[in-house]
Amino acid sequence: MKQNLFIALEGIDGSGKSTQIKLLEQKLTNAGHKVYATFEPTDGMIGSVLRNILRGYIKADHRTIAGLFLADRLDHLLNEETGLVKKLQDGYTVITDRYYFSSYAYHATHMDMDWVIAANKLCADILKPTITLFIDVSPETSMQRINANRAGTELFENIESLRAVREKYFEAFTKLKTEERIFIANGDRTIEAIANELWEKVSGIL
Ligand code: ADP
Repeated sequence: MKQNLFIALEGIDGSGKSTQIKLLEQKLTNAGHKVYATFEPTDGMIGSVLRNILRGYIKADHRTIAGLFLADRLDHLLNEETGLVKKLQDGYTVITDRYYFSSYAYHATHMDMDWVIAANKLCADILKPTITLFIDVSPETSMQRINANRAGTELFENIESLRAVREKYFEAFTKLKTEERIFIANGDRTIEAIANELWEKVSGIL
């Protein structure tokens, strides 16, 4: 039986998370793993509300958004049919596009990070990632990619917000460096170079 992992991909918008998840999924599958790739906000009930907020269709205070993300994450973990706790019990290696470090970085641009970390302890007590892979791109690169590939932009998708979010990610990594396993990859390189580095890191844990 293969050791199954829980891998979280993190980075600012457009950093290449979903691109890398597809490649990592292939490599893990080739290595004999059953892989479940997933994302936050989820496509469940609470995640749908969050998407509507991020796209600007519903207005909400940042504290409300933080609370909804927490609720969505708990459902992502605990849902009886699709929850990650169950997927891991069933032997899947789980890769998630965003987990609680996204909350620490994004919400902390508007509120106290320690509150966000304390609230998300509910999730950390249930499942900590085996490893968090952070793809670090400059906000300029990220904005270029977002503008080249999408018709509209979401909340946070502007250069000032992305700069602030990137800084908050690093603040969170420093705060939690003894409790979490974090790997930072330089994302301003080719897709293949990043994929190879991430695979080296992940296969080193297997
Ligand atoms: P995210 O999931 O983090 O928002 P994506 O994986 O969707 O980011 O990537 C955003 C865009 O940038 C996509 O069009 C993707 O093809 C492109 N992209 C991803 N990684 C790289 C890279 N290393 N170099 C150049 N373009 C990239």
